[in-house]
Amino acid sequence: MFNSLSDRLTATFKNLRGKGRLSEADVDATVREIRRALLEADVAVPVVREFTATIKERALGSEVSEALNPGQQVVKIVNEELKNVLGGETRRINLAKSGPTVIMLAGLQGAGKTTLAGKLGKWLTDQGHKPVLVASDLQRPNAVTQLQVVGQRAGVPVFAPEPGATSEFDDPTGDPVAVARDGVTHARAKLYDVVIVDTAGRLGIDEALMRQARDIRNAVNPDEVLFVIDAMVGQDAVNTAKAFDDGVDFTGVVLSKLDGDARGGAALSVRSVTGKPIMFASTGEGVRDFEQFHPDRMASRILD
Ligand code: GDP
Repeated sequence: MFNSLSDRLTATFKNLRGKGRLSEADVDATVREIRRALLEADVAVPVVREFTATIKERALGSEVSEALNPGQQVVKIVNEELKNVLGGETRRINLAKSGPTVIMLAGLQGAGKTTLAGKLGKWLTDQGHKPVLVASDLQRPNAVTQLQVVGQRAGVPVFAPEPGATSEFDDPTGDPVAVARDGVTHARAKLYDVVIVDTAGRLGIDEALMRQARDIRNAVNPDEVLFVIDAMVGQDAVNTAKAFDDGVDFTGVVLSKLDGDARGGAALSVRSVTGKPIMFASTGEGVRDFEQFHPDRMASRILD
């Protein structure tokens, strides 16, 4: 990800190298190039506008004019502002003070929620936690089985409605809210300390989906609601993020498919548009292709 943005910015900064003083025209030209690079990377227009205005203001200020190496100072400013737009500080997961920590996953179908459940479960297990995955996606016929496969691969148990069982879970169109609630009760009884609730996604945003997600949120009172966003979708993903934020009020974002050749628009826009931090990144289909999101490292990677 970010390859073309990275190349564009590097080329822009090359023009500043070795310059003793920067004229206003130099700054304008640089800011124009940055704007173009961000728009090409599919960053949301208001975010581009604010970002470039800040760069311009700082580049014309005394921190650059009085610097020994103004070109390098501009690069430093862009690095700092990229870190800011990506969220500033690393946001760590919020664990419950008592009882199991409940993490709910939300997002469109195909965003990478189910895959993430396994990755997150494995990551937490490696840190000494005892997580359980809860199959509250009863929308797609295969979703429960898929979560079971993911859980098996990750070595994390799954709480799921039993097909054929004489309970409220015996039909796959059962009540996902009840499954989520029962999953948390099950976790308490079996001393699991983290409950990861997988929920249904749809191809597009619809009110029924939002209501269901909201009902699950109200039923299990999660410590974190993670919105999973496919980084390949670009600016469109930002509109989806906004709708989900209005609908379920998520607490953090997970960027998935960062291993693809996404231009980076979603990553650079989602924080500003929703005000919510990016907490994790998914970087492949394997259970270990997952990392905590560090805005400073990502900013440096872009300018590498
Ligand atoms: P869900 O509908 O939101 O639960 O999405 P899934 O977890 O089923 O993922 C949809 C597809 O994307 C699957 O084929 C996954 O293997 C794939 N996938 C998920 N995360 C990643 C990722 O980080 N990188 C890549 N390359 N593929 C991913």
